[in-house]
Amino acid sequence: MGTTFAVKIAGPEQTADRLAEMESAIQDELQGVDSKMSTYRADSELSRFNATAATAPFELSSETFEVFRHAQQISAETKGAFDITVGPLVNLWGFGPGGRAASFPSSSIPAPEQIQRIKLQIGWDKIKLDEAAVTVSKLQPELSCDLSAIAKGYAVDQVSGALSQLGITEYMVEIGGEVRARGKNEQGSVWRIGIESPQDGASAIQRLLPIENAALATSGDYRNFFESEGVRYSHTIDPRTGMPVRHHLASVSVIDPLCVRADGYATALMVMGETAGYRFAVENELPALFLIRDDQGGFSSKASPAFEARFGSSP
Ligand code: FAD
Repeated sequence: MGTTFAVKIAGPEQTADRLAEMESAIQDELQGVDSKMSTYRADSELSRFNATAATAPFELSSETFEVFRHAQQISAETKGAFDITVGPLVNLWGFGPGGRAASFPSSSIPAPEQIQRIKLQIGWDKIKLDEAAVTVSKLQPELSCDLSAIAKGYAVDQVSGALSQLGITEYMVEIGGEVRARGKNEQGSVWRIGIESPQDGASAIQRLLPIENAALATSGDYRNFFESEGVRYSHTIDPRTGMPVRHHLASVSVIDPLCVRADGYATALMVMGETAGYRFAVENELPALFLIRDDQGGFSSKASPAFEARFGSSP
């Protein structure tokens, strides 16, 4: 998935055979998600769906359907701030599989007419899911979908599920920064997961959170961005404007029982920004931590009430 992963297991010592069994189950889950949901592979289920110019129902695996279902629910709740049809805009801004050079030189940005033309091709409400038939239909033939903001979280859930099925009850699964933990760590205490400080190029921990039987996902603009004429362009695109998000939010972390939901909501809140996103988190009782840049090059943190109820106020 273009990223790294780590799995830690605590509890009783495992035999080499058991460890091999776990490793193989983990690899199967990771490869399953990649082969189904990658837009970086022409042969994935999602790429085949994107390549069809037909509006007829397309049969999906139950796994990909499940991710579509969560994505569409988050889109509806956030009134389109989260939108898996945003791919053509992600590509236009150079954050997709083609990279920036394929779209435009790093020193220039897309023309407003180009953005408006591509905006007409997108829209989460142009996708219809049929739960009974496990199919997805495009209402516009050229529509394409990008699950990059949510499928890593789903992969975390799948790997966690596979470990649980093998009888493992104490583990921590992390894929590209999205985490889910169950039970206790090797010291017999709750797993503690760090939220990174949003500093470009540096790696420091802003806050350590005890995570027990829950998932934590973060969306940020401090890793994947480019600068042109002093302006920072983030890889999170606001589908409503067609532009990379422009606000003071450097990162947002969300806690949820399911990592697929935490991952999707983190991107959605990142699109909405520190004011509308915070309001959404309050109204929907979502535990979320917002790290907000100030004009002096530092940042402050703002936790939703559900986050504070769970973890206390900032140390
Ligand atoms: P997040 O904030 O979680 O997501 C940001 C991404 O979401 C953007 O890059 C964009 O694609 C999309 N997005 C932007 N705006 C919106 C919006 N408003 N609504 C919804 N989505 C939006 N990368 C590689 O370099 N090589 C690979 O081979 C590769 N394979 C992958 C396979 C899979 C199955 C997945 C899920 C991802 C893969 N990636 C690959 C992508 C890579 O992991 C991404 O950088 C990552 O998914 C983005 O996640 P993030 O946590 O950085 O950001």
